[in-house]
Amino acid sequence: MKERVYNFAAGPSMLPLEVINELKEELPVYGETGMAVMEMSHRSKQYLEVFNETKNDLKELLSVPDDYEILFLQGGASLQFAMVPLNIMTTGKADYVITGNFAKKAAEEAARFGDVCVVYDDKPNGYDRIPQPSELKFREDASYVHICANNTIYGTQWKYIPETGNIPLVADMSSEILSKPVDVSRYGIIYAGAQKNMGIAGLTVVIIRKDLLNRQQDRVPVMLQYGVHAKADSMYNTPPTHAIYVLGKVLKWLKRQGGLEAMAVRSEKKAAILYDLLDHSDFYKPHAAKEARSLMNVTFNCPTAELEEEFVQEAKKAGIINIKGHRLVGGLRASIYNAMPIEGVERLAEFMQKFQEENR
Ligand SMILES: *Cc1c(COP(=O)(O)O)cnc(C)c1O
Repeated sequence: MKERVYNFAAGPSMLPLEVINELKEELPVYGETGMAVMEMSHRSKQYLEVFNETKNDLKELLSVPDDYEILFLQGGASLQFAMVPLNIMTTGKADYVITGNFAKKAAEEAARFGDVCVVYDDKPNGYDRIPQPSELKFREDASYVHICANNTIYGTQWKYIPETGNIPLVADMSSEILSKPVDVSRYGIIYAGAQKNMGIAGLTVVIIRKDLLNRQQDRVPVMLQYGVHAKADSMYNTPPTHAIYVLGKVLKWLKRQGGLEAMAVRSEKKAAILYDLLDHSDFYKPHAAKEARSLMNVTFNCPTAELEEEFVQEAKKAGIINIKGHRLVGGLRASIYNAMPIEGVERLAEFMQKFQEENR
């Protein structure tokens, strides 16, 4: 069998090897059930145990307050771009902060359903920064304010929670959830696709303050109503059973690592290895402004696009995979979510040093 590589993909991305080994072990026969989790009825006693434990572990790890509901949905983070306005744009108005491509897509989708005000758009800067609080003025009658907490493509990340007063704050946390503790009570809705930092594709986690349930108009399809999914405990229809089970395994692994405080320390440490190298280099150029740097997606450039192509090819030989930037922006991007071990980041840093010396 070939060796496992260090997979720096932005998503779907690496899982902890321990988790993969547990999945492998339990794949044909889960516990006393005589079958795989994939084969179980979502309403069976055994599956409900997996489901409830996963939900409880997520609640515990993220310290989700009791007045919030955790939903396990499908359709990716992208479906939330529509579900959010369809469910809670009660005044017909919503404010969006555009700090990258996913934030922009979310705003464009919402604009199909109401009056969207783009409060700030970082496009003139090429999406390399996050606005200061003083640059953000929200409309008093906005139903909600939407931000993208970590900009996966550009490699920028919010370092503070914007103050929105009584207006619910909605955050797309797809590429940073579970990387650090979060004060859930500051948000109306948090959503995230699981395939970046939580598990595998097919599952979207939505954490929603209970008073925001059941605000949708009658014409909203039943499957797109938060209230319907909340009332049925995410079992209005068949949930993504296997993906929820994998999330459960990742959550247990996270608890063994010391929880989200420990992950925050590790994330800082991993990112610092790469940013220190970038800051001391006259060869590589980091994309994000210093104060906005993402701890999850480190984006940078070589002096030429040809060198970047060569970087990708040479890195592959060193077991470093999926380091190419998003097709929209080019350049290079190292996604270093929870499952990326420090050794992987060190291997990349070593390779970067060597490549710069050889190509300077
Ligand atoms: C990947 C990503 C998305 C899109 O997620 P899907 O699950 O593919 O719909 C949305 N927002 C952010 C921040 C992402 O990183």
